[in-house]
Amino acid sequence: MFRVDTTIPHGNACDISIAVGEQRAEVGFASDPHGGPECLWFCFRLSRDETEAPTGEVRLVLKHPYNMLGGDPAQDMRPVIRYQGGDWTRLEAGTVEGLADGRSRVVWVIEEPLSYVDLAACYPYGVPDVEALIRETEGYWHADTIGVSQGARPLVRLSNNYGTVGDDRPGLYLVARQHAGETPGSWVLDGLLRYIASLGGDAPLVWAVPLANVDGVMGGDYGKDNFPYDLNRAWGTPPMRHEVLAIQRDIQRWKARCHPVLAIDFHAPGACETSGIYCYLPDPSRHPDRCQEALTWSTAIKSMLTERYAAQTFERVANYPSRWETPHFSTYCWTEHGVCGLGLETPYAMVGDLVLTRGHYREAGARAAVGIVKKLRME
Ligand SMILES: [Zn+2]
Repeated sequence: MFRVDTTIPHGNACDISIAVGEQRAEVGFASDPHGGPECLWFCFRLSRDETEAPTGEVRLVLKHPYNMLGGDPAQDMRPVIRYQGGDWTRLEAGTVEGLADGRSRVVWVIEEPLSYVDLAACYPYGVPDVEALIRETEGYWHADTIGVSQGARPLVRLSNNYGTVGDDRPGLYLVARQHAGETPGSWVLDGLLRYIASLGGDAPLVWAVPLANVDGVMGGDYGKDNFPYDLNRAWGTPPMRHEVLAIQRDIQRWKARCHPVLAIDFHAPGACETSGIYCYLPDPSRHPDRCQEALTWSTAIKSMLTERYAAQTFERVANYPSRWETPHFSTYCWTEHGVCGLGLETPYAMVGDLVLTRGHYREAGARAAVGIVKKLRME
């Protein structure tokens, strides 16, 4: 009587088990690594046969949280849910159940849907959301296709102005979703772009690729360290992914048409990170000058995020072990263009006790934009 469907946009689930009892049904699922070494993202539709009488409740059982990136403490995971295509809301904290051999699982009890319910690791963000941003900012953002993805999907870049070659207007280049499942980064970018639109002609020149790994976004990949090549490890020259090749050529066009000051790459950290938004800076022991310059931007952003959103340890160096030797987006911006490149990491669910909504993400993005614009105006 219940069916799990992963063919919806961003669909991802595996190891499905369904048991229907007298009072309640139980639906077990896990995050599907989609061929990569890490997993975190999940998204699926649970449908029921409307001709049968409802049983009342559904126990949603997330299996193998201990194998998800940052999957501990699992009670800090707060998936989102929507009934019959309505609006998404967060689930309350789940219950972590220990198993006899030391494994664990997370359980959320939900009301049984009339016909179907969608569940996702976090608020999805895809092509319709980019279209809504363009529509709701009333033509401020212009969308152009700068090339195609590895899977031949259009790769879209938004811009508020093309500039002309030799212009000295300060310029920002922004990317999100190099790691396809990291939707909090998208919502923060969305808020930042909405704020920039409110500035009209006084804004810096901004070019942004909102869905960099569009194949992974549509296909429900998590995308961190995935094969054949993690997008954010493919930034060598020559690049190892076609999307990166297309974005690198676009960065060259952008750089010629503004005074390039800052490039930001929007991400999300491990699944249970709750310390707040934070920033990856160049390693001060290897690149003290870059770190100094990056600090001026990160300080401007942090001062506006305030302790409401910013982690206490806001400036960090990415010194976790990497599976890939090749450069990140931010390294490419520094090395090839002398432009400050930052990575901004936004948690999936909480900052301290604050459970994040889409409104919070957008507010954080707007605050980051205020910090950046304030710094530009002081220069
Ligand atoms: Zn990432």
